[in-house]
Amino acid sequence: MLAHLPDRGPGGEYELTEKGIALWPALWALLSWGDDNYAAAGPRRVFCHAGDAAPLDRSGRCTQCGQAVDVRDILITPGPGLAGAPGGDDPVTAALREPRRLLQPLREAAAPPAAG
Ligand SMILES: [Zn+2]
Repeated sequence: MLAHLPDRGPGGEYELTEKGIALWPALWALLSWGDDNYAAAGPRRVFCHAGDAAPLDRSGRCTQCGQAVDVRDILITPGPGLAGAPGGDDPVTAALREPRRLLQPLREAAAPPAAG
């Protein structure tokens, strides 16, 4: 489900294969269930349609335009439950403090600005 990309710097990088991407509906169902049952302060992450920044509903459709949003067109944004969440200094959590494409490699966000 992951393909190793050795030419992407030290240690390389991994990206989802089509099989991994096909698991998104199952993952979305689990995330939604967790938010419904274990996120008293609200979800830590809000998943939105990149086209109009509206959140997805429980079926994975955009609440604004009604489109069934492809995983490649999903933005992950900080949710109301993130502020009070424990931890937060690991690279993944740090990268997810700003809106980003769900499938955008983490290194793109973590890379320092180019010297100039
Ligand atoms: Zn939309």
